[in-house]
Amino acid sequence: MTKEEETYPNQRIYERDNFTCRYCGWDGRKDFKNWIIAIFSIDHIKPKSLGGNDDDSNLALVCHSCNLYKRNFDCNSIDDAIKVVNERKAIAEKWYHKHVLKLDS
Ligand SMILES: [Zn+2]
Repeated sequence: MTKEEETYPNQRIYERDNFTCRYCGWDGRKDFKNWIIAIFSIDHIKPKSLGGNDDDSNLALVCHSCNLYKRNFDCNSIDDAIKVVNERKAIAEKWYHKHVLKLDS
């Protein structure tokens, strides 16, 4: 097998999740740019440090951004994780508007 033919670790999760972020829906199949920007990884929905396991049901394909925003928050379901990510991105968006776009005084 050549390097190009090797699969990703946990490729079955990539395929199950359709090469799309489970938390935000970023589509890695759209084109190569979308793929490379996503920096996909496998997240433990319930973090291992909080007792989460390696069962496929506790694993989700996620983009780098979602993985950073979810961090180690204790989530017991994909819905919990999506809620955490959305809440934290909303905080980041307020910061962005205030400090980057300078829309708030
Ligand atoms: Zn995402």
